[in-house]
Amino acid sequence: MSEYRPTIGLEIHAELATRTKMFCDCMNAPEGAEVNANTCPVCVAHPGTLPTINKEAVRHVLRVGTAIGGAVADYAEFDRKSYFYPDIPKGYQISQYEHPLIKGGELAGVAVTRIHLEEDTARSSHNTVKGVSLVDFNRAGVPLMELVTEPVIHDAETAGVFARELQLLLRTLGASHANLEKGEMRVEANISVSKNENFGTKVEVKNLNSFRSVERAIAFEIARQSKLLDEGGIVVQETRGWDEGGQKTFSQRAKEGSADYRYFPEPDLPKLLLSEVAEFSPESISAAMPELPWERRARYQSLGLKETDAVQLSSSVTRSVFFDKVITEANSESSLLSLAANYLISDVAGWYSKSEKEEFSGLETDTFVELMRMIENKDLSSRGAKDVLQHMLENGGNPMEIAKSEGLIQVSDEGALVAAIRGVLEQNPSVAAEYKSGKDASLQYLVGQTMKATRGAGNPALIKELLVKEIG
Ligand code: ADP
Ligand code: ZN
Ligand code: MG
Repeated sequence: MSEYRPTIGLEIHAELATRTKMFCDCMNAPEGAEVNANTCPVCVAHPGTLPTINKEAVRHVLRVGTAIGGAVADYAEFDRKSYFYPDIPKGYQISQYEHPLIKGGELAGVAVTRIHLEEDTARSSHNTVKGVSLVDFNRAGVPLMELVTEPVIHDAETAGVFARELQLLLRTLGASHANLEKGEMRVEANISVSKNENFGTKVEVKNLNSFRSVERAIAFEIARQSKLLDEGGIVVQETRGWDEGGQKTFSQRAKEGSADYRYFPEPDLPKLLLSEVAEFSPESISAAMPELPWERRARYQSLGLKETDAVQLSSSVTRSVFFDKVITEANSESSLLSLAANYLISDVAGWYSKSEKEEFSGLETDTFVELMRMIENKDLSSRGAKDVLQHMLENGGNPMEIAKSEGLIQVSDEGALVAAIRGVLEQNPSVAAEYKSGKDASLQYLVGQTMKATRGAGNPALIKELLVKEIG
């Protein structure tokens, strides 16, 4: 079975975060408070209405395309993609076919074919009990970007990495909220397997509502197709759905060919000569580009962070905004930042994942960095640091004050410790003598006594070292 080489190409849609819809002035709020609240004659397809192009949506796509190094088209146009379905009442969707906004580019090592702009469909809901189907047009005409990759992915994990990186990019650019569970980002995977250089017949899998489903559906299809071929069967080109409960794909329908869509240029919209629009110029697009995910990771690494830490800390916009404040607060000190990275990724992220709060909300960067300094200065043991941190996450507060009131300050002041040690040795001359004559356990007893004398605040490692010296 494993001799088959899998090939995967992704088609990813993302609802763009614009103020208004793609071709009319309705609010872009697909989850509108009320059904059909955000509609007008254009987006419910009344005859005789005319669409107008939303510049903000075009700009979002040009930004995404530029970020991945794609070529912005000199000339672009919209096309009608005809099909008949209740959620697309015009009888066609306005999309782009021969002349998309972006061609080429690369993300996470995967070559991108194109990015184009289209309109989202309405949303149908079927009530089987009442035997009715209802259509909500709040989503009809919402700007939708579609990115298509080349068939250059050969395993499920790479597909997952690509999709996650695209989500992060869309969020970094503010182009889309890109939440898979909400359908703001929709991943479709085309999968084939083959034993030679020629591609096998591909199957398209839809309804992938999480990154995990993307990876599992691909792995499932690779196994299904390989087994089918091994048993002498053939793979039919079709669209399959992902059954989350059953963790398997199932046949939905035979795939339409592009001829079925009868694409032709949309006569009601102007052609786009992008180079003639000042705000679409490469200079204007590049000038407004924020730091991109891979640039941010490289910057974190240049500050001394391990690659895995850099990846973790830039895996969401919230995290990187927080960590950037930590960097400022810590004056970019490398050792302090690595320490902070450790605590943020393990203890802090772990605490938030169990709480109801949004990650890192309520945690102040200045007091957090102060805590890191206390750990670095050995004012706190690692156990004590965890207690103080827990306290800060639960109730806020200043780490030094918390540590003092909880009696967690660790004394590493040699003078104070030596004074305590001398007192202990004076009271326990026989134990000290035992240690000198080779009884190692006696030293542990003396460390314990010194800890007691410092009321638990002494740094035990340092006490041990000083005791050995004092006994001579
Ligand atoms: P279609 O004409 O059926 O839409 P395209 O050539 O436009 O097919 O490709 C659609 C998607 O399928 C792209 O992401 C592409 O990379 C991918 N793809 C094309 N051929 C294959 C194949 N044999 N195996 C896996 N993916 C493929
Ligand atoms: Zn409208
Ligand atoms: Mg195609």
